[in-house]
Amino acid sequence: MSATNCKVGVLAQETLAADIRRLTVAWTDPRPEYRPRAGQFFMLRSWSAAETPVLSRPISVHDADAEAGTLTFLYQVKGEGTQKLAALRPGDTLSLTGPCGNGFDTAAAAAAGRVAVVGGGIGVAPLLLLCKELAAAGCRPELYVGFRDEPYALEAFLPYCGAISVATDSGAVGYHGLVTGILHPENFDLVLTCGPNVMMQGVYRLCAAAGVPCLASLERRMACGLGACLGCTCHTKVGPRTVCQDGPVFKAEEVFDLA
Ligand SMILES: Cc1cc2nc3c(=O)[nH]c(=O)nc-3n(C[C@H](O)[C@H](O)[C@H](O)COP(=O)(O)OP(=O)(O)OC[C@H]3O[C@@H](n4cnc5c(N)ncnc54)[C@H](O)[C@@H]3O)c2cc1C
Repeated sequence: MSATNCKVGVLAQETLAADIRRLTVAWTDPRPEYRPRAGQFFMLRSWSAAETPVLSRPISVHDADAEAGTLTFLYQVKGEGTQKLAALRPGDTLSLTGPCGNGFDTAAAAAAGRVAVVGGGIGVAPLLLLCKELAAAGCRPELYVGFRDEPYALEAFLPYCGAISVATDSGAVGYHGLVTGILHPENFDLVLTCGPNVMMQGVYRLCAAAGVPCLASLERRMACGLGACLGCTCHTKVGPRTVCQDGPVFKAEEVFDLA
């Protein structure tokens, strides 16, 4: 894995919902090994080494446009780190380390046949570049997304997806209930998912019952993002793995249980 460390300029910071921001930065590194792939993430930091929080914050690549020279992040404002990111304005700078992690193998996924992409809440963040890469590889995925109430960031998916199905806990939009209530894995050859653990566990169980392979992108609190500190190690069925370097994308059967 190659990860670079650099300062980048903020081009835009948009508010998509009360606590959801879309941050676009200039990214012009021409080296192919640093071209971000779907499912990879960067460690972001817009504060000095003397300031808190001590650790940089991992945020997935939402979109990457090599021609425009831009990199986009979609994030939820949760605590001190993301509040500091949310204070950034066009012209400000921040530090990026990355791209980190394995990401999705979109060429192999597209070759699998019919692909469903399933997201929950801010777990939709890495799914835009995923759908874009799948579409570029000749596969138009079907997108299934669950939100608590109002969906966000979905227009950007329209050019790349065969269909978009929405579920909301409140019933405000689409199916009233969990996204697992509208997903039928038997209609697909592969399911790719990112979202809350409980949702991915449910997606995995449906896939296992239908005999359909499933890949899941995990989230863990992490410190270095580069596999050095082992702070994000998770215990998989094939032994201990770091989420930041061996993941964040894993075969679902290695990280989730059926029972
Ligand atoms: C590989 C990876 C990719 C990620 N991609 C995105 C993304 O694209 N968009 C996005 O909004 N978030 C993403 N996250 C989560 C994001 O890193 C955390 O929300 C962020 O670090 C919180 O920092 P903070 O200082 O704002 O909040 P903190 O003050 O550190 O925490 C605030 C609250 O958020 C919880 N929290 C913090 N980190 C995590 C975490 N990793 N998982 C679950 N809960 C957490 C804490 O327990 C606490 O309740 C990703 C995490 C990982 C590991």
